[in-house]
Amino acid sequence: MTLFYKLYQPLRSHFYKFNINTYVLSKQSYSAKKIVHLETLITKDDIYEEMKSDLSTVEWKRIREKILQKNTEITPSIVDSIIIDMCVKYFHVNNAIAYFKFLRENNYSLNAGVIGKYLKLYILKQNSLTNADKIEIVETYNDLMQKYQYLDSVTAEECIISLCLTDEWEKTQDIIEMVKITTSPGSAIYSALASAAFRNGKPNIAWKTLTDIVLRKQIPQKNIYLSHLQYCLLENAKFFNNRLEEMFHFWIKHSIIPYDQIIRAYANTAIKYGWSSDRVTISKKTGNCQHCGNFLSKITFSKDEFQKLAKCVMDKVIIGSDIYNKTNPKELLKFKEFIENTKPFDVVIDGLNLTYMNLSAPKLHLLINIVEHFKKRGKKVLVLTRKHQRKLSEFKHIERNAFVFLIDNLSADDPYILYATMACGMNAMFVSSDLMRQHKYSLQNEDLQHKFKKWQFSHQYFIKFSATGMRIQDPFIYLPIVQKSDNCWHVPCVTEDLSKETLKEFYEFSDKWYCFKYNEKKMY
Ligand SMILES: [Zn+2]
Repeated sequence: MTLFYKLYQPLRSHFYKFNINTYVLSKQSYSAKKIVHLETLITKDDIYEEMKSDLSTVEWKRIREKILQKNTEITPSIVDSIIIDMCVKYFHVNNAIAYFKFLRENNYSLNAGVIGKYLKLYILKQNSLTNADKIEIVETYNDLMQKYQYLDSVTAEECIISLCLTDEWEKTQDIIEMVKITTSPGSAIYSALASAAFRNGKPNIAWKTLTDIVLRKQIPQKNIYLSHLQYCLLENAKFFNNRLEEMFHFWIKHSIIPYDQIIRAYANTAIKYGWSSDRVTISKKTGNCQHCGNFLSKITFSKDEFQKLAKCVMDKVIIGSDIYNKTNPKELLKFKEFIENTKPFDVVIDGLNLTYMNLSAPKLHLLINIVEHFKKRGKKVLVLTRKHQRKLSEFKHIERNAFVFLIDNLSADDPYILYATMACGMNAMFVSSDLMRQHKYSLQNEDLQHKFKKWQFSHQYFIKFSATGMRIQDPFIYLPIVQKSDNCWHVPCVTEDLSKETLKEFYEFSDKWYCFKYNEKKMY
């Protein structure tokens, strides 16, 4: 079937999402902010109680009319959506399905929003779907496409995710391509596809989709990993081990730190295939795992490796990218001369970055403290900051304790920080809270990107604020990401935080790790 429809995202689709329990009732009432709270509808009379039982056509009809009569602000165009939401509110999914079927069988007018919401009911009951349910999803989708030339993005998402639960899941790849024309598909869509692909034994599609998610800086959802785990179990122990390690390599490649719950599921399954695993605390100072006795990998650079990286950063990040355009070439030349005449520095500080980190304190307060911190430890410090800062009266404190280079107010700061630090050799460090992502990506080559990240892990001080005050986070001695030493895998993890919507690159050393130790003897 050729899919030929456009997608648009009307404002109204927002209100069709589950878990949004208020309805703005019409354009006219919008200005008066007349809204209906789902909770009020559920608690204010006995209708909701009636809706919990198995209802006949006559009873559904009566309930629908009663709600319309009692709530003049509820119009026929939204009442069905509201009733479905009322059913689902306390997990009466089957009643919501029954209500939709009542509407369809009695020829009520069904808009795309209600149909999409109906498909979403099957997503809610995905762990108990019958073959008949799967057929119902496919047929409902097909009917919807016959009826509507246009689908809003919310309905399209509901179609994709529900179809991914059926044998027609591969069809969703085309729908996703269509969605991409007008909007950027979210992680839920890609995760449903990747999960379906693993479940249906099509790893190539799954890995490609998983890679898409990560490259889009989205967080792969839990269902992908659970399906991957099911896929790992399809054959023998060797197959399981290879697939498990394949996932670990993927996490290394994309610097993914999995959620505790996910890695625990892998650990619990791996035990059946000859692994012993344990949740351990690994200190960032010692790098020692008490489960297997191994150490995490120390971050090291050979002289050649460092020089090659420094040259590439100079060529690709500073000269060969648009950053160079944002930097005055004469100024860069002047800066290079300055570095040649004053180096080597032990620490290079991004002054502007620190000035704006703690807005509650006086402007240069943090920068002055950080400079003093390193000065007291006998370090030769360079502060890079903007010309306008010289006007601040406290600036002389900084000039007393550090070398200072003032760059034009419009120049990009990061290239200067990277250049100055790398020009001072392998042991120079820098202080900045910038994650330097953009610069890592402009290296293009994957191997170089990994080396840059390794260098960053081991050369960047971060300033962290907490309830107890400010602290300086030292560069790492040991690699803080998934890694293998001998026959042991060490996987750091994070506690799940649903508020994080994008894949944050991880610049904390997790104290929670899982150790996977493979013990071949256990297998035979
Ligand atoms: Zn270990």
